[in-house]
Amino acid sequence: MKYVIVPTTRNGKAVYFKENIYYQLKPVNPITNIIILRCKFYHYPNFRCKVKIKSYNENVISINRQHKAHQIVTENEVIMMQAKKKIKSNILINKGPIKKTFEETVNDVIANYRIPLKHAAEYAPKYKSVQKTLYKLRHETQIKKISFQVRLNLFLLIG
Ligand SMILES: [Zn+2]
Repeated sequence: MKYVIVPTTRNGKAVYFKENIYYQLKPVNPITNIIILRCKFYHYPNFRCKVKIKSYNENVISINRQHKAHQIVTENEVIMMQAKKKIKSNILINKGPIKKTFEETVNDVIANYRIPLKHAAEYAPKYKSVQKTLYKLRHETQIKKISFQVRLNLFLLIG
């Protein structure tokens, strides 16, 4: 069965499959092309859910055991995780105020996916918690653009 790739702040891949999130455990096996992923609740203190899935070509081909009694991850939560990625790309495309782009993107996602208000309030990214990252992101891209311009000018001067 197909899984959905979700953005993550960890290194490596995270996927959503049947109401759970899994993190990639090791690099892809170069011979079999199989990827092994483990339930995100393995990393919770004093609570190690040891479910592992094997996947091949973005399909889950096996699961080793049942999940411990832990909360599930709803589709709406996953959509809001993907919204964070969309905010970042919109920040780089739009030149307007960061806060406005943030709010517009979140509102668009909530409207397009018809996320109930209760879930939206719970899972939508909070501006305060991402503000710094977003400013940094735009600032870094501006620096890259400037230094490219400087290099180009130098090149033109010397050439
Ligand atoms: Zn689990």
